[in-house]
Amino acid sequence: MTYHEMKEQENRYVMNTYGRFDIALDHGRGAQLWDVEGKRYIDLTSGIGVCCLGYDNDKMIDAMTQQAHKLIHVSNLFTTEPMIQVAKTLCTQTGMSKVFFSNSGAESNEGMIKLARKYSFDKYGEGRAQIVTLYNSFHGRTVTTLKATGQEKFHQYFFPFTEGFAYANANDIASVKAAVNEHTCAIMMELIQGEGGVLPLDPDFVRQVEALCREKDLLLLIDEVQTGIGRTGSLFCFQQYGIKPDAVSMAKGLGGGVPIGAIMAADTCDTVLGPGTHATTFGGTPLICAAANAVLAEVTNPEFLASVTQKGEYLKEKILGFGSDKVKGVRGMGLMIGIAVDAKERAALVKEIMDAGVLVLTAGTNVIRLLPPLSISYEEMDEALAVMQKVFCK
Ligand SMILES: *Cc1c(COP(=O)(O)O)cnc(C)c1O
Repeated sequence: MTYHEMKEQENRYVMNTYGRFDIALDHGRGAQLWDVEGKRYIDLTSGIGVCCLGYDNDKMIDAMTQQAHKLIHVSNLFTTEPMIQVAKTLCTQTGMSKVFFSNSGAESNEGMIKLARKYSFDKYGEGRAQIVTLYNSFHGRTVTTLKATGQEKFHQYFFPFTEGFAYANANDIASVKAAVNEHTCAIMMELIQGEGGVLPLDPDFVRQVEALCREKDLLLLIDEVQTGIGRTGSLFCFQQYGIKPDAVSMAKGLGGGVPIGAIMAADTCDTVLGPGTHATTFGGTPLICAAANAVLAEVTNPEFLASVTQKGEYLKEKILGFGSDKVKGVRGMGLMIGIAVDAKERAALVKEIMDAGVLVLTAGTNVIRLLPPLSISYEEMDEALAVMQKVFCK
């Protein structure tokens, strides 16, 4: 099918819920993608932080091929080895205690919310179900995680939303303290607000939130759906903040391109969800866990993680080095980078960059967001930088 034929049939048969770019992608290699007309792009999106090992990682493909021949799926009523291996790696690498597998970021956050509410119910009974989240956060698209998301624009149309969320300002401990009351059971946050604009939380604020959680027996829930799996230069971002969360959610990068999510719990709450309290048909299925094991084998390597930090610094330095007054700031950690621009100029800048063969994302109202495959090469980065420099310095 040509692009125009595809577009016509997409409009006919697929719900129009995404503001898609005028690009139909066909195949990929490394951090490069080709569209159906053969045009090549350097990819600085990795499918929104998903394809962390690029588009043709042999180890991932081999692991999935072998597992597909052996066993694709059985129900969670049976034990399977790939799932155990993923859980063991996550726990031994982080000091967390136990894992529950899901299929997406929103679903992982739903699981954390259930975990926190049941933890509190078991200990204190009913009436302590409120969860404090931050303004400008993003936690997902289900009816509950939309409400957990601290942005008014997400609290529309789908009433009634799940009750029991209160919001506080990021980097403002007084605001968090004001939102916490006798009904609160947990505080949930991203350490770098991703969709909100690539906004890293202040380490002092994060430590103060942790202390507040310990003082009031609130669970500290960290949403690492975007920041996890090596994205920020450590396996999880919380490891760089030096905190001990009670639960951590993940998804995006964990499967390297196949759908998987998970929550891991610390020993403070690792037995809260028992038989019959939480489940999902596809969670931890062997085919997908084979991919996740291949991803983790690479991403837990300290040299690989150090290379993510180095590449992130390289990109940030080069972008600042453009000396363009259109670049209002560059922030982020590892290969999660936000370029602040004038909100009114952003759409035109993104279009020019994409037309010139580099795929980028946006975040917040005025940020161009870069989430390249963690395996991107320096040649690929240099090619993308040359394109961006031309656009920014025109
Ligand atoms: C993407 C994202 C989600 C939602 O993940 P889905 O897999 O789309 O449900 C939740 N939290 C954060 C921080 C995210 O970046």
